Amino acid sequence: MSDAAVYTGRAAVRAGILVTGTEVLTGIITDRNGPWLSERLADLGVDVAMIEVVGDRPADLEAALERMAAAGVALIVTSGGLGPTADDLTAEVVGRFAGREMVLEDALEERIAEILRPLMSRWPELDEAAVRASNRKQAVIPRGATVLEPVGTAPGLVVPPAGSADDGGRPAGPTIVVLPGPPRELHAMWEMAVRTDAFRAAIAGATEYRRGILRLFGIPESEIANTLRHADAAGVGLGSLEITTCLRRGEIEVSTRYEPGDEADYERLVAFIAERHAGRLFSRDGATIDRQVAALLAGETIAVAESCTGGLLAGRLTDLAGASEYFAGGVVAYGNEAKISLVGVDPALIESFGAVSVEVAEALAAGARERFGASVGVGVTGIAGPDGGTEEKPVGLVCFSVQGPGGRSLTRSSRLPGGRADIRDRATTVALHMIASALGGERT
Ligand code: ATP
Ligand code: MG
Repeated sequence: MSDAAVYTGRAAVRAGILVTGTEVLTGIITDRNGPWLSERLADLGVDVAMIEVVGDRPADLEAALERMAAAGVALIVTSGGLGPTADDLTAEVVGRFAGREMVLEDALEERIAEILRPLMSRWPELDEAAVRASNRKQAVIPRGATVLEPVGTAPGLVVPPAGSADDGGRPAGPTIVVLPGPPRELHAMWEMAVRTDAFRAAIAGATEYRRGILRLFGIPESEIANTLRHADAAGVGLGSLEITTCLRRGEIEVSTRYEPGDEADYERLVAFIAERHAGRLFSRDGATIDRQVAALLAGETIAVAESCTGGLLAGRLTDLAGASEYFAGGVVAYGNEAKISLVGVDPALIESFGAVSVEVAEALAAGARERFGASVGVGVTGIAGPDGGTEEKPVGLVCFSVQGPGGRSLTRSSRLPGGRADIRDRATTVALHMIASALGGERT
């Protein structure tokens, strides 16, 4: 995602997300929990005020909690540090921060032991008593916290501040939802957390929102900003809509959050965009081009011969589960020899037009289709740079061809912007849109 612009805003319940883990802080692993939680919270009408990443140091964790509380958030969601090892300290720090005593819950300890028993049978050399001791820590929780059933071995927690209603009503700080680090566990436990009374109480008053996502291809981001200005001037009623636009993999995503009562305003905006950008709005329901192509390929098979994208297109086409229904195969025909011997490109074409040419793209598409016996063939050849460009064929020039079923074929060349990685990635997006067009995909 590149830059995003947000139009209008309104007050809502605010939250902070605290991602813990030295491995995330140092960049060894990329944070997947912060963005995921942010989207979930937004859908609940909670405004995420901040996402902070800290290492596994109690003092840093505590300082981050202090900062978020000082910013006045009603809710903090933490990820990570719930495991049995010494660097897993989140529950303890949160308990102290919330002003709640830590207590050993016997029933929870028993539950964790139960979860561990089958796991332990896989490692017979482990000493059960020792494992139990190190997992006892996971059953020590802040008094009064709501326990979330472990998905791994660690229970999650919803910790209201001491002094909230059940303790006699001193000024309350934020409620803290404590979740494990592994994303799969975090997702499952989030679903449990949102259903607890403590969570509901913390976000009481949050407005419920709807979200609509539009996707456009083939216009610059400045154009959509322009359109929104025109829509505003034309009285489309943007005031009730919170619109975020962003450029993502060469496409424009327009994400709009609105209250259920403002549906009509949103529909007017969609109609305005559809009219102004006829032929460019390819998704009104948020479906990605990848999903649309997968749906359009029902009953077809596809094969690709890629040069400059080096297999990235095959990667995207096989990303979705069920790809074996339609993806026949692909060839990375990077060198001329490979184009000739593996895909059957006529050497004379390369000789006369060059390896990067619409003629060779066409031959790659036809060859892929024929060699794999597929109904759709795709060829991509281009100059990803940074070297190898000429005046006539500059860096970023990519030639595409899609030979579809029933003789429908599309061939074109594009000059794609950005560096090597952008050009290669953008080329896969262009190819997917061409595949959709060749298969009769509708756009308004
Ligand atoms: P465990 O019991 O597995 O130790 P935990 O709750 O203590 O769980 P962490 O120790 O913080 O969680 O992280 C465990 C693993 O989960 C990490 O090594 C990493 O693979 C994954 N993980 C943790 N946090 C994130 C994150 N923010 N984004 C993506 N993956 C994460
Ligand atoms: Mg851990």
